[in-house]
Amino acid sequence: MLEVEKLKKSYGRETVLRDLSFSVREGDILSILGRSGSGKTTLLKILAGLKEPDDGEVLLRGRPVLHLPPQKRGMVYLYQETLLFPHLNVFENMAFGLRVRKLPEKEIRQRTEQLLDELGMAGHSGKMPEQLSGGQQQRVAFGRALIINPTLLLLDEPFGKLDSRTREEMQELFLRICREYRISVLFVTHDLKEALCMGDRIARMEQGQLKIYAQRSDFIRDTASGAKKEMDFWTGIREESKKKNKDQ
Ligand code: ADP
Repeated sequence: MLEVEKLKKSYGRETVLRDLSFSVREGDILSILGRSGSGKTTLLKILAGLKEPDDGEVLLRGRPVLHLPPQKRGMVYLYQETLLFPHLNVFENMAFGLRVRKLPEKEIRQRTEQLLDELGMAGHSGKMPEQLSGGQQQRVAFGRALIINPTLLLLDEPFGKLDSRTREEMQELFLRICREYRISVLFVTHDLKEALCMGDRIARMEQGQLKIYAQRSDFIRDTASGAKKEMDFWTGIREESKKKNKDQ
């Protein structure tokens, strides 16, 4: 459903994307890992229409999108700072996309209430953003993106600022809803475990290109992914504690 062909982007003399090509299937969640500065945000912003590439093509369901403004692309870009409208309550923040599209009031109520419920936010609909916890703000931001039925969600380290428990809750909620609505997702994270939990497939950004692994096992086997090193670390800890227990 998404085809990216030979995307190029440089800032001055720094080449960030180098003939980058890849494709994503309908309903797929692709986790993208990569070092800081490797060009992940640049890629997502180009897809979302927030930056222009120097060259290349992007097709969404076979339709070229690079000449379209962001709001006509059927993609939503979300990052850590949720940027809710501070003067609108939770309900109105979520309903915003439907109001802009001038849908009938009854449909706006019904769709917003259903999504509030699914996101576990039904009891908070009258609150202002500043009255919400970080995780709750994320839910509202997520709802605001989902309510317009995007074809593709572009998530840039969305859970980076949440504590680990809230982060896990959000990961579960996010997976459930993306599956239910069959949304395709590009999910940028620097967290190996998160990439493995969330992605149907895993990719790594390196030297201006995106390497997609056909199988999770290929990713783990590739020493450059760092996965094996991390697993060996935890295996070492387990062996050590087993040995200690035996010795006692
Ligand atoms: P990542 O998201 O992987 O951390 P970015 O896409 O944010 O990487 O940045 C990739 C590289 O491009 C970095 O070296 C960064 O400094 C550079 N870069 C990003 N935006 C700009 C810009 N507007 N002007 C100049 N350089 C930029």
